[in-house]
Formats: sequence, C-alpha cells, structure tokens
Amino acid sequence: MTQKACRECHLITTGNICSKCKTATLSDDFSGLIIVIDPEESKIAKTMETKEKGRYALRVR
Ligand SMILES: [Zn+2]
Repeated sequence: MTQKACRECHLITTGNICSKCKTATLSDDFSGLIIVIDPEESKIAKTMETKEKGRYALRVR
C-alpha cells in the first residue's frame, strides 16, 4: 500500500482520502515523518496545529 500525505493537514494516510479533513488532496511526494502520540501535551502537535494522533509528514510538495 502506498502512503500519501494530505496537503491540507499533512496527515499520512494509506487511503484515497484524508481521514481527518475528508479531502482527496493527497500527495505521494512528501518528506519527513512526525508521529503525534499525545496531542494534548505535544509541542509538535501544536506546531502542526493538530489535535489528533497520527503520523504526519513534515513537508508535502
Ligand atoms: Zn487532511
């Protein structure tokens, strides 16, 4: 399965739509990987402006 990153929220998904924003604006050209485990406490989650656990791409082209 190919992994793709959402251009809107950078969430990495294996489906055809982003499970978070329900859009199909996905890109297979992304770099970096951020794993958010505890969104409430995570500074990374704040930087990424997310409140959900998951794997996020650092950069999406
Ligand atoms: Zn998204």
